[in-house]
Amino acid sequence: MPKYHIWTIGCQMNKAESARLESCFEGLGYEAAASAAEADLIVLNSCVVRQSAESRVVNKLHALRPLKKTRPGVTLALTGCLVNSDTGRLQKTYPHIDHFFKPGEVPPWLEKTAELSLPRHPSPTAYVTISQGCDNFCAYCIVPYRRGRERSRPVAEITCEVRELVRRGVKEITLLGQNVDSYGRDLPGKPELADLLGEVNAVEGLARLRFLTNHPKDMSPRLIEAIARLDKVCEQISLPVQAGSDAVLAAMKRGYTVEQYRRLVERIRESIPGVALSTDVIVGFPSETEAQFRGTVDLLSGIKFDTVHMAAYSPREGTAAARELEDNVSLPEKKARLDTVERLQEQIQAEINARLLGRAVGVLVEGKKRGKWYGRTRTDKLVFFRRDGDCPGELMNIKIEATSPWSLRGSVEPGNVNQEDKG
Ligand code: SF4
Repeated sequence: MPKYHIWTIGCQMNKAESARLESCFEGLGYEAAASAAEADLIVLNSCVVRQSAESRVVNKLHALRPLKKTRPGVTLALTGCLVNSDTGRLQKTYPHIDHFFKPGEVPPWLEKTAELSLPRHPSPTAYVTISQGCDNFCAYCIVPYRRGRERSRPVAEITCEVRELVRRGVKEITLLGQNVDSYGRDLPGKPELADLLGEVNAVEGLARLRFLTNHPKDMSPRLIEAIARLDKVCEQISLPVQAGSDAVLAAMKRGYTVEQYRRLVERIRESIPGVALSTDVIVGFPSETEAQFRGTVDLLSGIKFDTVHMAAYSPREGTAAARELEDNVSLPEKKARLDTVERLQEQIQAEINARLLGRAVGVLVEGKKRGKWYGRTRTDKLVFFRRDGDCPGELMNIKIEATSPWSLRGSVEPGNVNQEDKG
């Protein structure tokens, strides 16, 4: 049996894409190889969001050169964000790579023989991509240049995919897009994310529905109302703020002010009680002063997010920020700012999670790690517990007995699953 190996780096969209490729190859009679060295087909699924990610991909590409020399029969392919419209340049630089295909495309050597298929035995949770690309051009971001303009998939196509995944055992779906709030603007009739959520929510057998990532300038009252109303849509919203200073937000070309962001959060919290909020923050953006950085700290301490993904700014070649702005916050200063927000957030998460101590929460079981079962609450809290027998895909009541900033631990409590876990 021929063997395949997929190396993936980057966001959930890449992971979802790799999962689809895996099932496609398995449908064609391939089996997973234990390592790249044993594979007949090797696919690199690349990310270029950060320079460090792109460098890792480039290193991998070079490392495959000797393999192709010793085993010319091996098929090598590159997909993901490194593949742009100029594949000619990639072919010149990496002549040992046989195929280049963009994210979401069918691998060229399969075009006549197979469509990308869904996993045959999916895990209880699955990602479904609803749009590719982005129209926003935030100053620091390379995504619109590499993934191109936003292209939405039709509502019917997405709903059909969800229905099939649920038929195969999936209980929770996360809809993915770079900016889910502008979903549908390029489709006939301009359906909105709220409409899509309504359709997917109606899929029988689906237990939970999530979506990533929102853009504060585009999140509509209609969407907030839909999240509050639809029973399967989880009380969890990812809303990247990036900075707590209007001047920095303007330099980042984000399209909103700190006050507008705060008002949006208030509206969300009024409409969706117990909602969990996550955000993204960049520290050390060009010319960010100490006072502007304090604005970010104030915002984080005031809003108290459930999760914060943080990064120190590093210029990304090809972006407006790299072209036009001097990377003038020193590395030690960036590290110190990162450390400040990390420590603050750890404390906030410890407080938020501690409120769940002694309470029973509804957990959708995903799998087992180091002898313990794990799953997530509707608010995306990671919960570990012990139990005999198999239970992936089950919704269980877990009474929380210990908490940390990062996860919760508890034991199974019999009875109806408690959905009121919005601590
Ligand atoms: S919204 Fe901004 S940060 Fe997000 S993918 Fe688009 S350009 Fe990049």
